[in-house]
Amino acid sequence: MPRPILATIHPNALQHNLKRNRAAAPEAKVWAVVKANAYGHGIEHAYEGLRSADGFALLDMEEAQRVRQLGWRGPILLLEGVFEPRDLELCSRLDLWHTVHCDEQIDMLAAHKTNVGHRVFLKMNSGMNRLGFTPAQYRSAWSRLNALPQVDDISLITHFSDADADKGIAAQMASFAQATQDLPGERTLGNSAATLRHPDAVAASDWIRPGISVYGSAPDYPERTAVDWDLQPGMTLSSKIIAIQSINTGDSIGYGSRFVATTPMRIGVVACGYADGYPRVAPTDTPVLVNGVRTRLVGRVSMDMLTVDLTPLPKAGMGSEVTLWGRASNGAVLGIDEIAHASGTVGYELMCALSPRVPVRVEAE
Ligand SMILES: *Cc1c(COP(=O)(O)O)cnc(C)c1O
Repeated sequence: MPRPILATIHPNALQHNLKRNRAAAPEAKVWAVVKANAYGHGIEHAYEGLRSADGFALLDMEEAQRVRQLGWRGPILLLEGVFEPRDLELCSRLDLWHTVHCDEQIDMLAAHKTNVGHRVFLKMNSGMNRLGFTPAQYRSAWSRLNALPQVDDISLITHFSDADADKGIAAQMASFAQATQDLPGERTLGNSAATLRHPDAVAASDWIRPGISVYGSAPDYPERTAVDWDLQPGMTLSSKIIAIQSINTGDSIGYGSRFVATTPMRIGVVACGYADGYPRVAPTDTPVLVNGVRTRLVGRVSMDMLTVDLTPLPKAGMGSEVTLWGRASNGAVLGIDEIAHASGTVGYELMCALSPRVPVRVEAE
């Protein structure tokens, strides 16, 4: 028997979450963001659940190729654009739309020999200060692009830094709107947080770009949860109990004796560790489901195992189902955001860190 750890991808949940984003901005088209191998879900595994999107947004050429190999003929957008001149040939060949965020990328386009006009998304740095032209530089970048025979169509893109928090998107929206007011072309604005929290502002754009919410994590946890946003887990990480220990008061568990029992306890040893992508820093009391019932992690997470408290679950034993995050067989849900929050990080990081050694199964409809 293989080691019992498993990641299960839920196409119905991905589809539901995509619809949930669509409902927030019903007039807009939807880029399903599938960078980082579909946020750790695997592009091939997530594709079934995401094919009702209008396009796929990502950043690696290799990932764009994989989406084409799956048979996708619709739009694909490279969110960071090209990295070197020969990427432009691949854009021509695979019909990839690409972001243009700096003068060097315009230079590459100007030197590119092609008879197929490119569709580009000109990026404005509206305050995030990572990629893009400032509002003051934007118009001249647009004019330069517009004069190139290599460029067929210019769309406009910006990205919000604080859509998930109090600062919000108003200032960046205003600066984008002002600098682009008389420019033609489609607009794309909102990530998950902007789409869910500021639907009215984002709904006026042509394309939304949700990522994390499509995979069922709340972009603004703990202020709002996935349940509050009506999102369903796109992935379940599950395993089984592979050993049981009965310990006495004063006994410790695991490396560093980090947990010391203050009462006799039943401990379940789970085949899941940080080498599977479970966060090593998850502390005692981080929630875990055993047979779909909430209990807690105790002691330090090791490479291949972690330990859980079975004292409140006398029926649980060898082989019992353990849900590290996602949906248990009995339907109970443990949000990935809870594990992330307890570990001082975000759902994004945990999904993306799913280890290649974990087998992945796509749930049948
Ligand atoms: C990653 C990314 C998104 C998606 O963001 P989420 O917070 O996951 O919804 C949207 N736009 C750009 C430019 C991105 O890089």
